Amino acid sequence: MRPKRAENRKPVNREADVKRLSVLGSTGSIGTQTLDIVRLFPERFDVCALTAGTNADLLIAQAREFSPECVVLGDARRRKQVEQALEPLGIRVLSGREGLCEAATLDGVDTVLAALVGFAGLESVIEAVRAGKKVALANKETLVVAGQLVTRLLKERNGTLVPVDSEHSAIFQCLVGEPANSVESLILTASGGPFRTRPAETFGTITRQEALAHPNWSMGAKITIDSATMMNKGLEVVEAHWIFDIPAACISVLVHPQSIVHSFVVFSDGSAKAQMGLPDMRLPIQYALSYPERWPAPHERLDWSGAMHLHFEPPDRAKFPCLDLAYEALEIGGAAPAILNAANEQAVALFLAEKIRFTDIPDAIDRALGGMPVQEHPELEDLIACDAEARRVVQEHVRAITYIM
Ligand code: NAD
Ligand code: MG
Repeated sequence: MRPKRAENRKPVNREADVKRLSVLGSTGSIGTQTLDIVRLFPERFDVCALTAGTNADLLIAQAREFSPECVVLGDARRRKQVEQALEPLGIRVLSGREGLCEAATLDGVDTVLAALVGFAGLESVIEAVRAGKKVALANKETLVVAGQLVTRLLKERNGTLVPVDSEHSAIFQCLVGEPANSVESLILTASGGPFRTRPAETFGTITRQEALAHPNWSMGAKITIDSATMMNKGLEVVEAHWIFDIPAACISVLVHPQSIVHSFVVFSDGSAKAQMGLPDMRLPIQYALSYPERWPAPHERLDWSGAMHLHFEPPDRAKFPCLDLAYEALEIGGAAPAILNAANEQAVALFLAEKIRFTDIPDAIDRALGGMPVQEHPELEDLIACDAEARRVVQEHVRAITYIM
């Protein structure tokens, strides 16, 4: 039975309970679903900042609806259009990296929902942590690139990071109330993507369109390709390592095509807990925002009354080499996951532009990982340099293979 919204709500004390929110990447898949949660609980949120990469029209519409203090557009060329639309409403319009960092650190903002995609989201998350904001993190690449740095900053500032990624949200929820040293291992579930049952010999002919057709989740293009190569799960292993402070050897991956069980925690007494629900990102987004509370909400429920078969199988690591590449990078440590991430972002962009084949993605990443020196304790500027260099190595590799082809 669905809870009725109004009746189940406790009254909100405006001063204490209202969350002052910056939504970084508000025009994307996670960003728009975050605003759905705000629409569901309008009395609980005050949206202070919204940011977009290039979608000026949607940013303007969102700003008209939510009246933030400021908006940020990554693409400075369309700033005029946004200014003309929003300055009469008293909304400040910023652009570029500085604007993004300002949105992440605004006075009065308590929670930053970080939903940029890729390395582009890193600096704003670091700034948010430095400014003592609670971070609801969707942008997993931030932890892949700079897990060491971000967790150090979080410790120094006594900061809070709550995961939005569904697997990490599941683990986070399973850990509520459990003693810190009671975890034996984590099992991340994976849908297996659109090519779980496709023969490996045909992977060379996978098209952009086929790879963008995810069976369970509707997401941004980059993460959809990452799900098809299973690099998404590899990135999530690294993300889990940093969020839950657990060695890679204690994190495994289990394919579960229905995406109902969002992950498991195995405890030291042999008991395991799982968190389940329909594949709907609004659930983990809402939990990241409501934590430590749970807010009654009318999201669609799983039907528990009928017969249900849940299927699990081990991942095919030969067919999806990106998974082992991510484990390898985590084992090497230091800047190696940053190299992995940059090479993957570059290769995925080239695949989306139809410049390389699906099977070239892991090859390009392997080339970058094997061909670059790895710094042990990189600072932000080292990571920025490393990101640029890994992208260059991939470009060079791709130029070589396309020349041969
Ligand atoms: P998306 O591509 O739909 O949205 C990305 C957002 O970031 C957009 O608002 C875009 O305008 C903005 N953006 C992109 N590049 C930018 C740049 N250079 N400067 C400024 N803004 C920029 O992506 P998404 O699917 O919403 O994913 C966002 C993050 O959440 C990713 O890290 C992804 O891995 C993670 N995540 C997504 C899902 C999902 O269901 N979509 C699930 C789990 C985790
Ligand atoms: Mg996930």
